Amino acid sequence: MTLLGSCHCGAVAYEAAAINGDLWHCHCQTCRKTHAAERNTAARVRREDFRIVRGAELLTHYESCPGKFRHFCSRCGSHVYAERPELPDVVLRTGTLDTDPGLKAVRAVWMSHSKPWLAHQDGLPEFPEASPA
Ligand SMILES: [Zn+2]
Ligand SMILES: [Zn+2]
Repeated sequence: MTLLGSCHCGAVAYEAAAINGDLWHCHCQTCRKTHAAERNTAARVRREDFRIVRGAELLTHYESCPGKFRHFCSRCGSHVYAERPELPDVVLRTGTLDTDPGLKAVRAVWMSHSKPWLAHQDGLPEFPEASPA
């Protein structure tokens, strides 16, 4: 099933042929700030399975830490995906999906960065930093 996604204003759209692995919630400070949200729910997609179908020229990026690039719609600010160019997967921000991938997050990572006013407990395994493996 091809998954479709887009930014808030609709200028940028993408297709993902398949999710590679699980979804997870990331509570790290960078996700919190770049999404202006409690957390980001992320999913990996193989580069060959990922395609920007509209608005590539409107994407802009921000290098949030050395070698990690976060791609945003320059019109509406939606954070669409992140990547480390040397890795085989891009990391979708699943809040931009328009298609239900039929998966749910299975863990919450970087809980050490979570904030009391954003505390969210959904009974998933939690890790203070990145999850092991
Ligand atoms: Zn947009
Ligand atoms: Zn994060």
